[in-house]
Amino acid sequence: MRIVRSIDGLPPPSGRRGLVPTMGAFHEGHVSLMRAARAECDEVVVSLFVNPTQFRANEDLDRYPRDEERDAGLAEEAGVDVLFVPSAEEMYPDGFDTWVDVGASGGEARARPGHFRGVATVCVKLFNIVGPELAYFGQKDAQQVDVLRRVIRDLNLGLHLRVLPTLRDEDGLALSSRNAYLSPAEREQALALPRALESARSADDPVTAARAALNGLEPEYVELLRVGDATLLTAAARVGATRLIDNVVVEGELA
Ligand code: AMP
Repeated sequence: MRIVRSIDGLPPPSGRRGLVPTMGAFHEGHVSLMRAARAECDEVVVSLFVNPTQFRANEDLDRYPRDEERDAGLAEEAGVDVLFVPSAEEMYPDGFDTWVDVGASGGEARARPGHFRGVATVCVKLFNIVGPELAYFGQKDAQQVDVLRRVIRDLNLGLHLRVLPTLRDEDGLALSSRNAYLSPAEREQALALPRALESARSADDPVTAARAALNGLEPEYVELLRVGDATLLTAAARVGATRLIDNVVVEGELA
């Protein structure tokens, strides 16, 4: 596996290239995306970039977990060809001021104004830099998938997204780099989120049922979200200082 730190250092595609965009601190969820890419692409590029433009000023950019050496080992084991680790200076040089402004509303878009503008901008840059035929994302960030599908369609980017299921710990907590922030007691509390979503998914009114099942956890939102042909029950909640999101499919299939 090659580690490439500059845009110029990336070789042009020679065959079907798959891209897995990440912010590092890899867990099995990230690895499942890399394996899926490995299974259907000639070349697998994983980008590792903690994208500053998708964090708001009061969020966790500065303390976001970083461990490049461990990440490189996991990526290599998963059969990744290139780990692309650009610097913030290269991604956002002096004078950078062109943005992909997306029309997202509700859920994360309302809770984190500007978040999807940062996500869409960095992903379009990564798509242009890496040149993948396929890009791999997790259902865990379902609204991100919805936004990126529209960006790809609206800007005629001509690549395909693959969406893979959310991997969870045995007790049901969705794997997330942010779980590293949780104390053991907070982790116990956090379980209310997946449990509430799971118990509410087939209720007549899943939003009300999930709210009632949250066991004292105060949600930022609980909403139904349409992504492609699927309806998802999606929620965000803060456990201590840690913000967690999760979702389950209520109807249809997230292809
Ligand atoms: P991140 O590094 O958090 O930006 O995530 C990189 C990619 O991994 C995104 O497409 C996420 O949706 C995906 N991902 C994050 N958590 C999980 C999970 N538990 N299962 C599957 N994919 C995930």
